[in-house]
Amino acid sequence: MAEQKRDLYDILEISKTATQDEIKAAHRRLVKKYHPDLNKEPGAEEKFKEVQNAYDILSDEKKRQLYDQYGYAGIDPSAAGGFNGAGGFNANFGDFGDFGDLGDIFSNIFGGGRRSSSRTQNGPQRGEDEYRTMRISFMDSVRGVEVKIPLNYYKACDHCHGTGAESLNDIETCPTCRGTGKVKTQVQSIFGVMVSEKTCPSCNGTGKRIKRSCHECNGQGYIKVKEQYNLKIPQGIRSGQELRVEKKGGIGKNGGACGDLYIEIIVEENNDFKREGDHVHIEFPISTTDAILGLRCEVPTIYGTETIDIPAGIQNGATIRIKNKGFKAVRSDNFGDEIVHIKIVVPTILSKDEKQLYEKLRELEGGKKDKPNEKFIDKLKRTFKM
Ligand SMILES: [Zn+2]
Ligand SMILES: [Zn+2]
Repeated sequence: MAEQKRDLYDILEISKTATQDEIKAAHRRLVKKYHPDLNKEPGAEEKFKEVQNAYDILSDEKKRQLYDQYGYAGIDPSAAGGFNGAGGFNANFGDFGDFGDLGDIFSNIFGGGRRSSSRTQNGPQRGEDEYRTMRISFMDSVRGVEVKIPLNYYKACDHCHGTGAESLNDIETCPTCRGTGKVKTQVQSIFGVMVSEKTCPSCNGTGKRIKRSCHECNGQGYIKVKEQYNLKIPQGIRSGQELRVEKKGGIGKNGGACGDLYIEIIVEENNDFKREGDHVHIEFPISTTDAILGLRCEVPTIYGTETIDIPAGIQNGATIRIKNKGFKAVRSDNFGDEIVHIKIVVPTILSKDEKQLYEKLRELEGGKKDKPNEKFIDKLKRTFKM
């Protein structure tokens, strides 16, 4: 029996009438949720692949239509190619060097250069936005950092403004499609003869023929730019926040602007400092004696050490707040606080002298009537009439 496959709309958690924007948004959300680099739970990778496959089909209007009509039978499984993008123009971004290859994976799955649809338009078309992720250290998120990242992108040619023609007189209507950019073809498929509209192969859908190509871009209309881009990551940035790099995303069409590049910042976690909003929490160990007698001491903050007074008699788990020693808010000049969680460390190894002193202390305490364990038992005895 054939394996029961889940409904593609269910996989993306969207309705059958979802728009392309909704499909895109659902895809991005689920990819973040299940990406094997971000989610180590068992089964996440399978979910991730499922999401990829569903997106590949539903983001393509033609495949979506076939799926809506015939279900899985309508889709050629070899066309649902998972990781490798959908071919076409492939925006080949450079490697992010030490930041891992997650960025490359993302630029592929978020449709780096995916042709937006089988629709053809003669006018200028803006390029697609592209998405990458980048890891930074915890301390870089504290102070902010500037990183040089290699970018490869395209911009419209200044000479021909993206038309690819040497001059305006060199542009004429495409004779194959008479300027419509489309041609009709008949395809023999398992469902019978299907008439479909295809992008005109002579003009690639522009509806125009170029007599003399632009000498600057060889008729491409766009020029490849390689750049060491200086990415400014602001102080206090949170994991998951995106930075927009304008017009350095996917290539435009017919002189349209290029899309934007979004870089999602993933901040590495720190074992000692834990972020919560703009506040920072830290567990700080002190000795039993210091907890009893109180102590003036240095505590670590994300900006260096700070001297504080720990009051005598502080309890395990008590917190001390140090104002303005948390993260800087990205959109204002406010700072969060640091919250120091006191952890009292009870000694396990005692010298002979220490042991004697503690025994002496216990003798002294023996005269008191308020030993906590005895008080607690008294209370329970009264409550339950034990
Ligand atoms: Zn040109
Ligand atoms: Zn044509």
